[in-house]
Amino acid sequence: MKDGYIVKRDVGIMKCSECLKRGIATHTVNVGLLCGQQCVYCSSPSRIFRHSVFKELGVTAFDLFDQGIPIVDPWTPIRIAKKSYKLTKDDIVLISAQTDPYDKTASKLTIGRRCIEAVLRNTEAKVKILTKSTAIIDDLDLLSEFKERVSIGYSIMSPVYKSEIVKCLEPGACNINDRLFVYKRLSDNGIKTFGMVKPCMPGIINGKDDMKLIFETLSVLNPEFILVEPVSLKWNNILKCSEVLATNGHTEISRQLSAVREKKVYDNFIKNLISGTKAAAFDCNYQDVVKIAVNSDGDGFDIDDSSVIWLKR
Ligand code: SF4
Repeated sequence: MKDGYIVKRDVGIMKCSECLKRGIATHTVNVGLLCGQQCVYCSSPSRIFRHSVFKELGVTAFDLFDQGIPIVDPWTPIRIAKKSYKLTKDDIVLISAQTDPYDKTASKLTIGRRCIEAVLRNTEAKVKILTKSTAIIDDLDLLSEFKERVSIGYSIMSPVYKSEIVKCLEPGACNINDRLFVYKRLSDNGIKTFGMVKPCMPGIINGKDDMKLIFETLSVLNPEFILVEPVSLKWNNILKCSEVLATNGHTEISRQLSAVREKKVYDNFIKNLISGTKAAAFDCNYQDVVKIAVNSDGDGFDIDDSSVIWLKR
């Protein structure tokens, strides 16, 4: 298939411990195995590279991802509709945790829409949607019909004035301003929103002032909550991101990013990110809205961690 590979899996709605820890969802649905948007920091290829499908196709997850070739599963919504999941109104299904439900191929095959609809029509659960595509606007009718149970996440990793810099790290994603325009329209139609500020990288978000600009951008969407998460040493391909930034002429940011691979520098970055985020939240009156998810147990961090979710506790 020119636009990507199609596979048939046997999974539908799954429990999601990572989502639960962050307080954003209890379950997830992935519309396929691999996303086509090529964010350099994406953790998905590293999480699924051992899947048997890559042996069958004779390619690696990393090669496909680098070429922007997705793997989608158009049978996912059919399986969701067929199986009686015992989800209650307290459950929240995130669509998707590991692939974008509106990347070009998923959109063309309307898989994202059909998964959202299958969960909403066949269970009592709420749905949270994460996408970096403006194609979600095509489903305004569905989202409006279920607006009491739907919330859409706006992902942002830099203040808008640095959007041209981060474009090289998100080559397949729609432009931040275009997405903001679409999300504003959805929000104006009564669709609830939340903000995801991730992955936060040194040099791209510099302290309180940059975080404040991001919160001000998000404020036009009146988000229910904002989750801030730093770049992960384990999952976000820091070295590759640093190389891409350097290749695109952003040498100082590249250097700062590369430096956080050293634990001491990383811990210092986390401390500054937490204090800068808390100060920005205070200025924006967002103390109850903003949480910071950090992949640590908090040991060794002598800071006010009242807004922090320590993911390893
Ligand atoms: S949109 Fe999300 S899933 Fe797709 S490549 Fe980017 S980070 Fe990965």
